[in-house]
Amino acid sequence: MLKGIGVSKGYGIGRVIVLSEGNIEYEYRENCDFAIERKRLNDALKIFVEKNTALAQKLTETVGEKEGEIIMGHIMMMDDPYVRSEMEKYIDEGICAEGAFEKVCNTFIDMFSSVDDEVTKQRAVDVMDIKAEVLTILTGSEAIDLSKVKKGTVLVAKELTPSMTACINKDNVVGLITEIGSKTSHAAILARAMEMPAVLSVEGATEKLKNGELVIVNAMTGEIITNPSNEERGIYLQKRLDYIAERESLSRFIGLPTTTEDGIKVELFANIGTPEDAQMALDYDAEGIGLFRTEFLFMDRTSAPNENEQFEAYKKVLLAMKDKQVIIRTLDIGGDKDIPYMGLTKEENPFLGFRAVRYCLNHRDFFETQLKALVRASHYGNMAVMVPLVTGVDELREVKSMVRKIMDDFSKEDIPYDKNLKIGVMIETPAAAIIADILAKEADFFSIGTNDLTGYTLAVDRGNSNVAYLYSAFAPPVLRLIKNVISEAKKANIPVGMCGEGAADPMLIPLLISFGLDEYSVTPTSVLSTRREISQWTKEKADKIAKKVMAIDTERHVVNQLEKMVQK
Ligand code: PEP
Ligand code: MG
Repeated sequence: MLKGIGVSKGYGIGRVIVLSEGNIEYEYRENCDFAIERKRLNDALKIFVEKNTALAQKLTETVGEKEGEIIMGHIMMMDDPYVRSEMEKYIDEGICAEGAFEKVCNTFIDMFSSVDDEVTKQRAVDVMDIKAEVLTILTGSEAIDLSKVKKGTVLVAKELTPSMTACINKDNVVGLITEIGSKTSHAAILARAMEMPAVLSVEGATEKLKNGELVIVNAMTGEIITNPSNEERGIYLQKRLDYIAERESLSRFIGLPTTTEDGIKVELFANIGTPEDAQMALDYDAEGIGLFRTEFLFMDRTSAPNENEQFEAYKKVLLAMKDKQVIIRTLDIGGDKDIPYMGLTKEENPFLGFRAVRYCLNHRDFFETQLKALVRASHYGNMAVMVPLVTGVDELREVKSMVRKIMDDFSKEDIPYDKNLKIGVMIETPAAAIIADILAKEADFFSIGTNDLTGYTLAVDRGNSNVAYLYSAFAPPVLRLIKNVISEAKKANIPVGMCGEGAADPMLIPLLISFGLDEYSVTPTSVLSTRREISQWTKEKADKIAKKVMAIDTERHVVNQLEKMVQK
């Protein structure tokens, strides 16, 4: 079995075609007639632009506007007057069209590859893609026609370029495997948009896999099963059928409002960790962002992002989400989330230690940088700020007073911001849940974090497998706290959401409907299944279940009861 990163979903079962590396041979010539070479280059670029305009159009129509834009980006790069003039400069020195074109492409490839940023690195792949395509035209070589491969093909390549991916015939290709590529590469984005099972970053795939070999591509786990037994084939054929049936059933919920069967409208948001995830949230039809975990902006680097970098990241999400609400959580580090350069000291009980808002309020300058970036970004969309790990109303007051001070300064400096910026509290400690009535007077909204609320209420470290059997949001104390929080929010007339994993749990959903939760925030891939779950309940049916369940005394019996009453 080979292993890589599953960048899309689903299962593909088929026979391998290994695509050889697209190194195009040509004779490098000097002392050429520049008029002839200019014409050759211009003719080739014209063909390139025409071919790709048609391809972009086809992609826009069949896959989506954003996907079409990837190819339009290639055209724009080749139409750029600076790029063209650089090529002509070499041609005027007597270098042949192929040589001039390749030299300019290589400069861009080197430049983009040397930048330590995924998006910029992706542009290097785009230029490699363009280079191969234009050299193919210039040299008249035969390009593999991906639209004509046999039915049931699994394509294996060193790297899948966007143009290759875009040419793939979805009826014939059942899976993609590459040696290079990440979740954020353009090929991955296209594979997801085309709903094509794809596993990237499989070491040595083009050598280890042979033409004609039967393989199973498991894009859910990133595994490639080579030469599967008949039994394995049977299992995965069934999994594939089940997955396709589930996807089709869910696709009916795209574009629908989120309502219960009897018409109670709720909001269905998505949780994200990076600005790029916003697109994924939109792809799954999320109605907003209920939790942007900003700590991910601080990870995988050696120093904290400055105000401007943070501002750009928040703004990017807001612009992507247009007028949809985006709830951004202030930094939540500590606990299981360490960031080496932040100087967190080793603690006996990090989950009970210097975490989240506690750390932030003790590192004022640092926190002020984040709050300034947030207040500045608030001008660009429908933004709200959420404070994690609150245990007392004084913490909320302190954050609000810092925000007010920043707003006053911005007003004096004429820096625009949203004067009605909402500041809410994440309810993820028993303390906050118990004083929900006090917090509700000063918070603009609540969002219940069941992941931590469960752990803290039951005194269970959420990452400790020895006590994992105790970790359950269905334990009566957790359910009582959730009910209390929602009820206090209703009394105070503030919106209440849930951004912990509980919001997507089919067994918890009827209880949440009965308690009156306003907003559900789930991982993007769970948006449609959560919408479907909610649509299957009426308030009356949900109330009946809640009444029964809230009278039960143990977690085990609650789960047993719910398993009986909630149809899968
Ligand atoms: C939670 O605690 O429920 C939550 C959503 O926050 P995180 O999982 O980031 O701690
Ligand atoms: Mg939490």
